[in-house]
Amino acid sequence: MTNKKEDNLMEKIVSLAKRRGFVFQGSEIYGGLAGTWDYGPLGLALKNNIKNLWWQKFVLDREDMYGLDAAIIMAGRAWEASGHVAGFADPMVECEKCHKRFREDQTDGKCPECAGNLSQARQFNMMFKTQIGAVEDSSATVYLRPETAQGIFVNFKNVLDAYHPKLPFGIAQIGKAFRNEITPRDFVFRTREFEQMEIEYFTKEENWQDNFTALHKEMRSYIESLGIPSDKVYDLEVPEEDRAFYSKRTIDLEFDYPFGRKELCGLAYRTNYDLSQHAEFSGKDQNYFDEQTGEKFIPHVIEPSFGVDRLVLAVLTSAYTEDELGGEPRSYLKLNYNVAPIKAAIFPLLKNKPELVDKARELYRMLKREVGQVAFDDNGNIGKRYRRQDEIGTPYCITVDFDTLGEKPELLDTVTVRDRDTGDQQRLKISELVEFLKSK
Ligand code: ATP
Repeated sequence: MTNKKEDNLMEKIVSLAKRRGFVFQGSEIYGGLAGTWDYGPLGLALKNNIKNLWWQKFVLDREDMYGLDAAIIMAGRAWEASGHVAGFADPMVECEKCHKRFREDQTDGKCPECAGNLSQARQFNMMFKTQIGAVEDSSATVYLRPETAQGIFVNFKNVLDAYHPKLPFGIAQIGKAFRNEITPRDFVFRTREFEQMEIEYFTKEENWQDNFTALHKEMRSYIESLGIPSDKVYDLEVPEEDRAFYSKRTIDLEFDYPFGRKELCGLAYRTNYDLSQHAEFSGKDQNYFDEQTGEKFIPHVIEPSFGVDRLVLAVLTSAYTEDELGGEPRSYLKLNYNVAPIKAAIFPLLKNKPELVDKARELYRMLKREVGQVAFDDNGNIGKRYRRQDEIGTPYCITVDFDTLGEKPELLDTVTVRDRDTGDQQRLKISELVEFLKSK
């Protein structure tokens, strides 16, 4: 159960996200579409940073990973093979009084809205179904993928034939997934359209444990690199009765969100179930040929699965800070440099002095070219600008003043650099700035 303070924190994060252009309610001017959210410029920049860091760590920095971008709409047969058509369902109950619907495991036996009695649970399939093409028959039924994983499995053979990778190797994909959640809630935590970053890591059966352990370590180190404290992330060893029947081991990595400890991402050993199913349903061989031993077999697979939006929320929750600076209360985002949407904001001390504005603009253009993700801000007094940048998590504010122009000759071509967390200022040469920022 959440208490008032935590509800309050959630409200503050949602309101900051909207006010500062991180995340807006989907279709807001039409009253909002439940379970959908739109990312504004800063939210998109934050999300892209999180995705790029993942891609860098799990794909570009390794020699055993292959990238993929599969179609979102997939053939109906693929979802029959994966078991989603028959089994991707949550137990749904309906309130007999107000007729609202809920996921059974999110109620305590009574309607959460009006305390009315609930109906018997029935299985509700969460896949979005649609028709493709002009002919309406069952062969035209397709689904929006509820996970990116199956797009990887159906391309296993393509990657194998094109690149001849040796086991173990992985295929990685970032992309949208869709689930018709019965009760979307908790901001971007549980939505109907979201983004996943998934890897299927193929291995010989006898090596699954080593690969599982290694990937688990990499997942934790990635999470920590985003500024989510390790001691707020918990490994939940999922007991057999709660695992998918084909999974021999699953760890849910949970995070302390303001509304409780909930799944951030997961790691599952899925045996060779998925590839075997696709072999059977498609009639296409999914074997790997081991040149050394001459054996043919269907590889086993370890799956690290991240939800991008849940990471965004964990990053925002971890970063949200209230303190006092210079005797004034402030709230700000203590974002890690690597995820911050803006790394540095460049100010002219005064807006109405063209020589300051020109110099600051010139500096801004140079840093934009050399560092990227910087902003120019001349709106309001310096104090206001600091507060605005603190609130969106900008680690550094750089001010061009009269000394920059040489009023004190010894300070020519220097600027003040203010640190977001401490408010401390130091004077640096413009020529040192690129190095200074890149070292962060
Ligand atoms: P939950 O139990 O919370 O519904 P799940 O166990 O069904 O989640 P998985 O099927 O393991 O989730 O999906 C992998 C990852 O995708 C999750 O760890 C999560 O980060 C993300 N994810 C799943 N469903 C949603 C959703 N509705 N909204 C946002 N992210 C989601």
